[in-house]
Amino acid sequence: MNGKIFDIKEFSVHDGPGGRITVFLKGCPLKCLWCHNPEGQSLESELMVKRSFCKGCGACVRNKESETYKKYGRDVSACPENLISVVGKEYTPSELADKIISYKPLLDAMGGGVTFSGGEPLMQYEFLSECADILRENGVHIALETCGFAKSKVFTEILAKVDYVMYDIKIMDSEKHKLYTGCPNEIILQNAELLKKSGVPFVFRTPMIPNITDTRDNLERIEEFTKGFSWEKIPYNELAGAKYPHLDRTYSLEISEKI
Ligand code: SF4
Repeated sequence: MNGKIFDIKEFSVHDGPGGRITVFLKGCPLKCLWCHNPEGQSLESELMVKRSFCKGCGACVRNKESETYKKYGRDVSACPENLISVVGKEYTPSELADKIISYKPLLDAMGGGVTFSGGEPLMQYEFLSECADILRENGVHIALETCGFAKSKVFTEILAKVDYVMYDIKIMDSEKHKLYTGCPNEIILQNAELLKKSGVPFVFRTPMIPNITDTRDNLERIEEFTKGFSWEKIPYNELAGAKYPHLDRTYSLEISEKI
């Protein structure tokens, strides 16, 4: 089972313990209004065009026989400004694991490892599971960044293969969770209970979205839910909307503020 990756970041100090290589997997069951990685939401590969820099030369639509024109409506390599990219590259589990393992001496020296992020990495759990098996055999420290929206069987299987988890608790009220992320939160809270009992080191995290997640009621309820466990509040990313125009989409939080 191949995996689809939209980015690999070398090296991060914000995605778990030590210095890490972060792998961003495509696909997410949620559609949070404040998502700052919109190119991670779809499981499909897609085109990103930095339209604000486009000179309108038309080079990208001339060769209609090019492979990327046939697939995406643009000849990616023809842009003289290098404004076009396809996000979503396929890897086999061993291809990705080998790439990560090649960094192991450096990752070990930085007290880190690999972090699987997204999107939602559990959307591609079969690929993730196979990749994690290879990495474990090679002694790579594995962290998982997850929204927790997955079948409990899947979550439990992956939990057994990782060394550290960063787990989002966004909104405690399920109706509001659905309104702002597209999904209710029951399964997320159930998996969070499994995480609490798992013995795997973890941190709960809450993105501080103005007037949505950072309300007094919501934070009090999260504080109660996470009592006795690590809980971090993540500042709102002011640049969250930056990539939406590249995908020809509108940043939804601007809409929500008018609700
Ligand atoms: S080739 Fe690049 S600059 Fe020219 S129209 Fe296409 S995106 Fe714009």
